[in-house]
Amino acid sequence: TRDGFADALWALDGASYGRYKSLVGRWAMDGFDLEIVRGQADPYAPPARVALHVPAAVAGFPADLWRTPVRRRALASFLARRAAEETGEGTRVDAGGQEILDRGSCQVVPPGPTALEGEPGSVVLRLNVPLPGRGRRIDARAAEHVLCRRLPRLVDRALRYPAVDAEALTRFADTAEDSHALREALPGLGLVAFVADGAVLPRRSGVDDRPLTGPAAVPFRSPEELRVTVDLPHAGRVTGMGVPEGVTLIVGGGFHGKSTLLRALETGIWDDVPGDGRERVVSRSDTVKIRAEDGRRIEGVDLHAFVDHLPSGDDTADFRTDNASGSTSQAAAIVESVEAGAKVLLIDEDTAATNLMIRDARMQALVAKDREPLTPFVDLVRSLHRDQGVSTVLVMGGSGDYMEVADRVVMMDAYRPSDVTARAKELAAVPTGRRAEADTCPGTVHRRPDPASVDSSARGRPRIQARGRDGLVFGEETVDLRAVAHLADASQVAGVGLALEAMVRRGHLGGGRTLAEALDLLDRDLADGAECLLAVRDEDFALPRRFEVAAALNRLRTLSVTH
Ligand code: ADP
Ligand code: MG
Repeated sequence: TRDGFADALWALDGASYGRYKSLVGRWAMDGFDLEIVRGQADPYAPPARVALHVPAAVAGFPADLWRTPVRRRALASFLARRAAEETGEGTRVDAGGQEILDRGSCQVVPPGPTALEGEPGSVVLRLNVPLPGRGRRIDARAAEHVLCRRLPRLVDRALRYPAVDAEALTRFADTAEDSHALREALPGLGLVAFVADGAVLPRRSGVDDRPLTGPAAVPFRSPEELRVTVDLPHAGRVTGMGVPEGVTLIVGGGFHGKSTLLRALETGIWDDVPGDGRERVVSRSDTVKIRAEDGRRIEGVDLHAFVDHLPSGDDTADFRTDNASGSTSQAAAIVESVEAGAKVLLIDEDTAATNLMIRDARMQALVAKDREPLTPFVDLVRSLHRDQGVSTVLVMGGSGDYMEVADRVVMMDAYRPSDVTARAKELAAVPTGRRAEADTCPGTVHRRPDPASVDSSARGRPRIQARGRDGLVFGEETVDLRAVAHLADASQVAGVGLALEAMVRRGHLGGGRTLAEALDLLDRDLADGAECLLAVRDEDFALPRRFEVAAALNRLRTLSVTH
């Protein structure tokens, strides 16, 4: 009971701080269990990890809110946000931002088999709680206040059905379910993405991901030629722009909203919170943003479709470098993404290597093909779709060469899209003298990672720590993830690290498996939700996709592969 825990706590009053560890374990409180997962070593050490286990009968959420994985994720995300509002004094719940992600911080026990304890509908909240002390001694009175009074109040106010705003909660779950349904509908409609009419794409600033508000924000309106109607489970009939499979080119003057549209497609792989403005902007879950990233590592990637006959004589069919150039890094990103299973590539001229994207007629005339190692993407993008089923959405305002190879051309004009395919095709019919430099993009060469090159746990469990949103400490290495666009936040970076460790520990990377096969096994784990990574380590994390995990693996400086 609560008294039992309080007694144990009081018995430690004045003891040295490290004795907090003796509380590790699960304690019955009134109506829920308090689990001390990890104590706190000293006043300056990371806070204690605490889990609150609220049984289904006490939490009381109707089964309708947790029956499906999507609604369960939404419920957990909503509860983590509510809990974060109720905490203070250093106590922290990892609630996340605009995206609704599976997180370590909150789970709802599903019906059916699961690694989680408790009846279906039970809620587990995991949070970080700094434990109070007087100097380096335990302060039982203050600790009792935090653990025996504040946490029960948190349970009452944030984790029980009658206490939360049921209407807001239902809207949250319905919104997530609609986004999910929309995303699932894309392949059947022959689309790679959908942008609903009325969506608000621009953000407040580069560091504030909330929607731009006020009259300056121009809501999205689809061009008639690309307008699609979809029936959603909750919102009913919704219209918007369907981005078809194939090659889609987004053109328009600078500052007219091209990158903002592409960025919305990039985040369209995640569900967004109600009010985000992009709740009904979705892209297929096998979408990967591609960009140039000079300085990155490349390990055994077959780049020969894009780069061949280097003056150095290096073999580009089995290419490795510790310091890639802009063009080779982008070529590697394309090949690696397709290897990992991507079916949609997003590329923005703002972050692309120009020499990999285009080579116009004059440059072809001046520099002979046999003096130019690069084959521009414009000559490979069609085959990528025709032969490998990989679609591309490309922002390119600076060169007309892609008009010839695009299936669709969308022009952004003062944030409004129009379909200019017909006019672009007329212009493309006028010869420029440019000759195609390739007509097929060869298929993927699958690599087999050496698990020992990833396993940094030789001296115990590897350190896994997010360096903000941009870097992952994995064992002895720090992986630069700045160019991995889809990562939502630092917790998802931690999730990438845990997923890598899970792949090593479970032997997914071994047995001569290709990377794609290993990622298939990871996908099976990820389908269980956050439980699969909680089993690796109890810390704050958000679940990534296979593509983010592959991106980190590909950038790991110790990785070695065979073919
Ligand atoms: P481009 O890539 O075409 O140069 P951007 O997408 O970078 O243009 O947009 C330029 C500016 O316009 C950005 O500050 C962006 O926030 C803003 N913007 C984009 N779309 C909208 C919109 N629908 N309503 C209002 N402002 C927008
Ligand atoms: Mg731009």
